[in-house]
Amino acid sequence: MPICDTCGAHLPDGITCEDDFLQFLYWEFENPELLPAHHLMVLCYHIQHPHLYSEEALKLAHQLLKQFVTTDITPEAMRERMKALVDSGKRQNKIRGTTNNHGRYPYLMPWTTHARDVVLAGPACYVESIHAWAQSVFKTLVLENILA
Ligand SMILES: [Zn+2]
Repeated sequence: MPICDTCGAHLPDGITCEDDFLQFLYWEFENPELLPAHHLMVLCYHIQHPHLYSEEALKLAHQLLKQFVTTDITPEAMRERMKALVDSGKRQNKIRGTTNNHGRYPYLMPWTTHARDVVLAGPACYVESIHAWAQSVFKTLVLENILA
């Protein structure tokens, strides 16, 4: 089974993590009741594919994940904070990872949940799956001393 070089997910032939990301967007589009999980999904996906963010944006993303996982933040407040992340990126043009400035980890993080697991669990439990994914991503970052 092929493996994603970036996050270590085991993938079926011909499928990439990006395909899984697009699947989530499609599910959210089809089922608006899934939308409250959108920002958390985007965070988890990018944190596990850190080169998509600049170094600065990855650090901010870790802090946002921590706030989302450790507090009772509402989806609305989450949207506002994500907007702040995107806006700070716009101001400095630094949210997206580039060849010279992109997020990374010192080694492949031993993630216990990947986008693939959320896909396999199916759209019916999407929101629960995204929350479980976020918890697992947070736990791994703490265990690996990336996030205090
Ligand atoms: Zn991946």
